[in-house]
Amino acid sequence: MNILVINCGSSSLKYQLIDSANETVLAKGLCERIGIQGGQITHTPAGGEKVTEQLELPDHVAAVDAVLSKLTDAKVGVVKSLDEIDAVGHRIVHGGEKFASSVLITDEVIAAIEEVSDLAPLHNPANLTGIHSCRKLMPNVPMVAVFDTAFHQTMPKKAYLYGLPYEYYEKYKVRRYGFHGTSHDYVSARIAAILGKAREDLKIIVCHLGNGASISAVKNGECVDTSMGLTPLEGLIMGTRSGDIDPAIISFLADKENLSASEIIDICNKKSGVLGLSGGVSSDFRDLSAASEEGNELASTALSAWSYRVAKYIGAYTAAMNGVDVIVFTAGVGENNVQARAEIISYLGYLGITLNEDANTIRGEEVEISTPQSSTKVWVVPTDEEMAIARQTAALV
Ligand code: ADP
Repeated sequence: MNILVINCGSSSLKYQLIDSANETVLAKGLCERIGIQGGQITHTPAGGEKVTEQLELPDHVAAVDAVLSKLTDAKVGVVKSLDEIDAVGHRIVHGGEKFASSVLITDEVIAAIEEVSDLAPLHNPANLTGIHSCRKLMPNVPMVAVFDTAFHQTMPKKAYLYGLPYEYYEKYKVRRYGFHGTSHDYVSARIAAILGKAREDLKIIVCHLGNGASISAVKNGECVDTSMGLTPLEGLIMGTRSGDIDPAIISFLADKENLSASEIIDICNKKSGVLGLSGGVSSDFRDLSAASEEGNELASTALSAWSYRVAKYIGAYTAAMNGVDVIVFTAGVGENNVQARAEIISYLGYLGITLNEDANTIRGEEVEISTPQSSTKVWVVPTDEEMAIARQTAALV
């Protein structure tokens, strides 16, 4: 079955065409600057050269149309006609409390996604335009919604409630939801398979460390806690996001800087994290590591504050589960940044963990980076959210 996986943002659209029978990627690509002048599509067929084409993409329908043209193109295409696309899997950021698993998209599902859009005003409306555009151009192809929040819906009330008046939860559904769920689900299932155990028998901490970053505690096959909250701003220090801060900082800074609360939140989202902490060096860990090696003190401080926060969350989730069997690193930084992994592990001696320094030089592969003597295992498992979406789509279709 050929599954088109769509991840639709407000001005960009990422796609992969995946053959779910043998789990191979047939083609992938990216549309950029949708609705802005100077649009372009980058398309890479499996085993072929990447092609980039400048073309105006006035809206998301135009972007999906461009994707379908590339997939069926005589030269760079990978299927003969649209008939060979059997289903579409859409990544949807927020499913609120309505969706604890992936679902076939119907009019009712679309209405429910619209209903929870005020919880993710930047993401859900963009995700919905992806659904509407695909429906317009492929009206008879079944589609599935895969939610970033779904895997975390098993969290108990004590983990998802904030210490706020309960009426705000009742009236507005203000609670912790968590994100990156598709990745936490995929990676925790994968590590159980690697260890030859049932996920139900393990206590797993998954560290999804990319530009956006979150940690989850997965006990007996279910997520029991995760670091992101109502929005993806809570938790770890990220590339540009602050993560946890004292909420009183918002009004304090708004007064001092003569800005509104939402302007301060915007700074917390886009100008904070390691970018802000480093005095603007970069949000990218490669640049930060290079700057730190050249003696930039703020870059070093940003990196150590970032690792320290990760280590604190690992401690918290060990307590939440009364122990941990395996800690897994994934996403851009977790899969590739050898120094960051080593620094986090340097805090974890109390769990009986020692780093296998040779194994830790490996990037982007499934590898155990703790020594055989370590009583808690540490692994790197590359995430694959698109493959997970394709699997869930195939299963439902
Ligand atoms: P997101 O999907 O949240 O945008 P990614 O998971 O792609 O983020 O992670 C991006 C981060 O991964 C960047 O900070 C980048 O520096 C880091 N990264 C990617 N590749 C490497 C590498 N080879 N070495 C070190 N860091 C890397």
